[in-house]
Amino acid sequence: MTTPHAPTPDEIAGLRQRYRLERERRVRPDGATQYRSTDAEFGYYAADPYAGAPAEREPLRDTVDVAVIGGGFGGILAGARLRQQGVKRVRIVEKGGDFGGTWYWNRYPGIHCDIEAHVYLPMLDETGYVPEWKYAPGEEIRRHAVRIAEKYDLYPDALFSTAVTSLTWDDTSETWTVATDRGDTFRATYVVTATGTLSEPKLPGIPGIEDFKGHTFHTSRWDYAYTGGTPDGGMTGLADKRVGIVGTGATGIQVIPMLAEDAAHVYVFQRTPSTVDVRANRRTTAEDVGADRDGWARERRDNYLRIVSGEPAEQDLVADQWTTSAGLLEKLLPSFRRQGDRAAFETAYEVADAAKMNELRARVEETVTDADTAERLKPWYRYACKRPTFSDKYYPAFNRANVTLVDTADTHGIERITDNGVVVGDTAYELDCLIFATGFSVGTSGILSGKLPVHGRDGVQLLHRWAQRGPRSLHGFTCDGFPNLIQLGSLQNASSVNFTHILDEQAVHGAALVAAAEAKGALVEPSGASEDAWLASLAEGAPDHEWFHAQCTPGYYNREGGGRPNSPSAYPDGAFAFHELLKRWREESMAEVLRTRTTPQPS
Ligand code: NDP
Repeated sequence: MTTPHAPTPDEIAGLRQRYRLERERRVRPDGATQYRSTDAEFGYYAADPYAGAPAEREPLRDTVDVAVIGGGFGGILAGARLRQQGVKRVRIVEKGGDFGGTWYWNRYPGIHCDIEAHVYLPMLDETGYVPEWKYAPGEEIRRHAVRIAEKYDLYPDALFSTAVTSLTWDDTSETWTVATDRGDTFRATYVVTATGTLSEPKLPGIPGIEDFKGHTFHTSRWDYAYTGGTPDGGMTGLADKRVGIVGTGATGIQVIPMLAEDAAHVYVFQRTPSTVDVRANRRTTAEDVGADRDGWARERRDNYLRIVSGEPAEQDLVADQWTTSAGLLEKLLPSFRRQGDRAAFETAYEVADAAKMNELRARVEETVTDADTAERLKPWYRYACKRPTFSDKYYPAFNRANVTLVDTADTHGIERITDNGVVVGDTAYELDCLIFATGFSVGTSGILSGKLPVHGRDGVQLLHRWAQRGPRSLHGFTCDGFPNLIQLGSLQNASSVNFTHILDEQAVHGAALVAAAEAKGALVEPSGASEDAWLASLAEGAPDHEWFHAQCTPGYYNREGGGRPNSPSAYPDGAFAFHELLKRWREESMAEVLRTRTTPQPS
């Protein structure tokens, strides 16, 4: 690949101008409301293609120690960490037909995780598993989720193909009543919510989308019954099909080369090109990662988090594009804040950013032979405005005669869908199959979505309380008035690209809260004053990301061009420091959230 040169001030000024124009070309007045959810008449797009119709069962009326909502890595890790604390009855309730969460639903061809497997897969030390590839295929990850669930005996009490519909605190028994869409109303002393952030597939609100008479599905519900094949390819059902795919984000980048191999013709409907960096996936051995030593995986994962959080590290064990591009991400990182000189930082950052983006644009030019196609595949925005992606197969796919790139930027996406295809500008594309790689709604699952009402002490509803003064919590996990409710997720805490690591630290924390409460016969519930103090500490050091997101092309990172990052408040010093803070707090201050029970604990 071309070695990037340091851009001159004139080049930087030119890029600024170009980025501004590209952003203006793409911002839509309907912003985040342009999408349709996959419910009601579009419920077909979210149905479970793997589990079939759920088996009949009697509604449950029993009592468990902990109800965990969500059977993805968050819920599984919560279950495993609770087991390690000796908690007996843990019931995980999951919409899908098995454990795995995003890796249960997403099984599209080409699926891999773009975070190194040895840091992404949790509990490798505990399970003794060593991933086979640097970047694991989805099925290996899904099987690992099942491995953890089996090791920690999470299957016997689990409820699959079941959605929790409400949580209600009962002051008399001091337990939660958990209601589900299968008629269950069981009790739980504690509730842990782990409902995920990008779990509900969304569709573009393209006029006529309901008229298409060909075959159609969302990438997170891949229809192998129609395409044939497996995530490794071999989709013989597409050999005579004209396939359209909408979306070129992290999912589209992985799917498109696989479609190119198997379909008669592929039309890629692109609105904004992604950055597509080198992948260099390879098989790995236990020796490669030092897996013969106890604690190797924890050490590697901590080292990774240190680096991507901008903390000093003596070595870079993973050494991939995420860790080596961390300098570019410093805008989000604590080291910059601590150093203070913002103007110097912004200049240095912009130069590094421009060099990186020039390198990525050069990669397109070097690979794609048709000059017009190459030009349209070039991303014109700052690095990490959109989620960075990685592939060595994506650009070469556009050199094939059976792949056509259709650039829809000038029309803000596809203009119209008809009964037999898609219209962009003056051209109608006839299609047999239309696949949506259009991503997921943000913040529409779980409590924040309003679809899961939570009634706490005195029947007060959580979102009603938050409607008055905004979301309130201690560390993002617990709330005054909602005893024994522990929320995992990215509200008012700290996140990072390796989200399974974040979830694991949260699960460790949640399990420690439960264990401390059990040991003291107490309830877990912070005071309003500790919520105030936590929110004040978030506000005090809040990093100013808005300037960055306001300049970015639209996407879910900035509320479709609205300029605000999706996370309303986060721990300013980043995830690594947040984990240290939580550890100290558990050692020194955990008693502050333990309140006296008025009832004896249920046996
Ligand atoms: P995204 O939301 O990232 O991408 C959606 C795509 O659909 C974009 O290219 C978008 O264009 C396009 N689109 C939306 N509406 C229209 C329209 N009307 N006309 C044309 N195009 C349209 O979804 P993904 O599923 O790709 O990724 C979602 C997230 O899932 C990722 O950001 C990542 O966090 C995670 N993921 C992680 C992976 C991993 O390896 N760890 C792999 C895959 C996904 P535009 O950009 O213009 O809005």
